[in-house]
Amino acid sequence: MSDCLFCRMVAGEIPADVVHETDRVLAFRDINPQAPTHVLVIPKEHHRNLAALAAADAELLAAVARAAGEVARQEGLVSDGGVEPGYRVVTNTGPDAGQSVDHVHLHLVGGRPLGWPPF
Ligand code: C5P
Repeated sequence: MSDCLFCRMVAGEIPADVVHETDRVLAFRDINPQAPTHVLVIPKEHHRNLAALAAADAELLAAVARAAGEVARQEGLVSDGGVEPGYRVVTNTGPDAGQSVDHVHLHLVGGRPLGWPPF
């Protein structure tokens, strides 16, 4: 979609601080980080939210989840085969959740203790 910010990042029209890339997935640092690590993981193909992605292409959804795990490992948020120190994955859907970009993205945050509940 030519008017979608993240599609334009995928196309290389807008710069992104890419930390991980596959043929179908892109992961880049959030421009306004909320934690020492704050990476957005997106499918290169446009889907508006998680449910739409899951309905359209379960394999792509799995690829996005795998990429999130890989970024967490790269960023030192999980030890080899372990879960420490840990991290959080969040995806906002719709205005009540504060979704500001209508291209599904996982926020992967970590690098400090994270509060719960997150709202
Ligand atoms: O969940 P939400 O849709 O609000 O998340 C969008 C995210 O995209 C925000 O965290 C924002 O900082 C990030 N963003 C970015 N680069 C841009 C515009 C927005 O990383 N150029």
